Amino acid sequence: MFTERGVWLSMSTPVELLARIERGEDLDAAGLATLLSLEEGADLERLFALADGIRKRSVGEEVHLRGLIEFSNHCRKNCAYCGIRLDNRKVRRYRMEIGEIVGTAVTAAGLGYRTVVLQSGEDAYYTADRMVELIRGIKKSADLAITLSIGERPKDEYRRFFEAGADRYLLRFETSSRALYARLHPDSSYDLRMLSLARLREIGYQVGSGVMIGLPGQTIDDLAMDLMQFKELDLDMVGIGPYICHPDTPLAGSPDGTAGMTFKMLALTRIVTGDAHIPATTALATLRPDDGRERALRLGANVIMPNLTPQQYRQHYLLYPGKICLQESSDRCTECVSGRVQSVGRVVSRGYGHSLKLHG
Ligand code: SF4
Repeated sequence: MFTERGVWLSMSTPVELLARIERGEDLDAAGLATLLSLEEGADLERLFALADGIRKRSVGEEVHLRGLIEFSNHCRKNCAYCGIRLDNRKVRRYRMEIGEIVGTAVTAAGLGYRTVVLQSGEDAYYTADRMVELIRGIKKSADLAITLSIGERPKDEYRRFFEAGADRYLLRFETSSRALYARLHPDSSYDLRMLSLARLREIGYQVGSGVMIGLPGQTIDDLAMDLMQFKELDLDMVGIGPYICHPDTPLAGSPDGTAGMTFKMLALTRIVTGDAHIPATTALATLRPDDGRERALRLGANVIMPNLTPQQYRQHYLLYPGKICLQESSDRCTECVSGRVQSVGRVVSRGYGHSLKLHG
């Protein structure tokens, strides 16, 4: 059945679909689209409570903090939504030297972190040799798990990074709609993204991906298919963040995604993936600075990624405008986030927070 918006709706009612979740049954795309269409009310609250229950049973009360180091804002690509895309000449570009990145990671370990996420645009300056030097340097100096978030690379480079000690790799596909993917990514292909995710898995990485909510032209059906794709890929980590319009991109003037739809996607991601690690994203907290992260933790999330990028660089890594926590020091950020975790009755994990999934 189709609504006037073209959303494919399940023949089952929301109450029936929620009962199926409670019985541990899988939902199809139509069922997921129906639940994504829920407005405020008892059914939506029930959905959130079910997601929180699954979170509790599958990943427990611990929240993992991953220290984010944005080490370069140079990028060779032109993703339509991204503030640091190649063609945005207003960005002041920076690169951190290897020693400085290692030093930042050592500081993170001193603050109690057990994971650092090394993130950058697609920057050829960091050749495979330089990345290997960086990964080895961190592994030698600190007891840290390493997540890479540096975009698409050739398979042999993924392998070299893994052999040097990288544990995890984040590579979001942003949307499962091929048509939308093609419109937003003029210099990338959906097939290559899927191939890259398969290669990372084959090499042995814990693999993370994710999508953006509220992209111009995205439909509820697209979001339902994103959820099906998370399940299909059996991801170790899934990031869900709202689209936030950047004025210096081709999408200038388009409306932002909403916190409400992001919450629904987050809850359903927990329901479909079970024990994946799911962050309460900074983009969501940017839309809802007061309670975005707390709400996310209450409806499925179990990870937060505080920004540990040295302060002089942070303001230049703006994938979207209005990003929170640009001025706070790393220890202040850590303290603030730990307080937020405790305020919802959860505990900050002292472990690495490796994947809980066993891949066949
Ligand atoms: S989203 Fe990533 S790959 Fe695309 S332009 Fe931005 S930094 Fe580059």
